[in-house]
Amino acid sequence: MEAIGIDIGGTKIAGAVVSDSGEILVEDRVPTVAGDSEAIVDSVVLMIEKLAAGRNISAAGVAAPGFIDVDQSTVYYTPNISWRHEPLRDRLAQRLDLEITIDNDANAAGWAEFRFGAGRSVDDMTMLTIGTGVGGAIVSRGALFRGGFGAGAEIGHLRVVPDGLPCGCGAKGCIEQYGSGRALLRIANGIADVGGIGLGLAAVRERTGSLSGADVAALIVDGDPGAHQALRELGGWLGQACASLSAVLDPQLFVFGGGVAIAGDLLIDPVRESYLAHLPARGYHPEPEFRIAQLVNDAGVVGAADLARLHQRSHTS
Ligand SMILES: [Zn+2]
Repeated sequence: MEAIGIDIGGTKIAGAVVSDSGEILVEDRVPTVAGDSEAIVDSVVLMIEKLAAGRNISAAGVAAPGFIDVDQSTVYYTPNISWRHEPLRDRLAQRLDLEITIDNDANAAGWAEFRFGAGRSVDDMTMLTIGTGVGGAIVSRGALFRGGFGAGAEIGHLRVVPDGLPCGCGAKGCIEQYGSGRALLRIANGIADVGGIGLGLAAVRERTGSLSGADVAALIVDGDPGAHQALRELGGWLGQACASLSAVLDPQLFVFGGGVAIAGDLLIDPVRESYLAHLPARGYHPEPEFRIAQLVNDAGVVGAADLARLHQRSHTS
């Protein structure tokens, strides 16, 4: 059964018709009209109508950033889009002749990895998406964990440093401030300031005015010792967070997605090393696997479509 998946991002809305096996059959994307929630709803309606035209489709899943209620109908809060207690599912359902499901974007991406990507061989998986911030998704016993209110699995706001760096969420010391793409830039700038192994980073910063993610990524590929050190420090923080997550969730597998995950083993190795150093009951706790996500850009739409299909099946059976 084909289903539609839509992923509402900060800069673009992506959509696709997705097969039962997670394959993208047709896709579409339009820019997000920043700050205009009405225009975003219009874009999503238009995109679903266009994708469904001439096809036998009865379910569409929409992934959005922020808190979604446990009934998967209302967006409690979305950064950037200004949705506050927005009844998104009903608004879309009123205008479309399809069953609509909404979910958090990180949940959708994690679900796609679980069903069709790096997590397809396990039942318990924890995913960390290392982009500008740190996103998370938890699959426990083959089901997505949403929490009692639907706002669970916000791994980015796990505290790793008491009274640490202020976070966009209002708290301090969240892993997002130490293990994200933005944190990688802060760490790299610190290494550049010191000189020594930071000379390569400092030279690029001098030339470009400020270090970008692409600059650091290029230096990592070139084997620059300062850029590699920045990645090791980032991995060290993420490994600590994973050790705390293991104590609570005990996943068989940690999956890393997002832009920084392109570093592959250069990220995974320091994560694992730090994980083992910080794990409670070290030496006795079974060791989970650490893998890089496989679906990259398509995960949000593939996961949203599959969750819509699942939701519909649970209603009709
Ligand atoms: Zn936070």
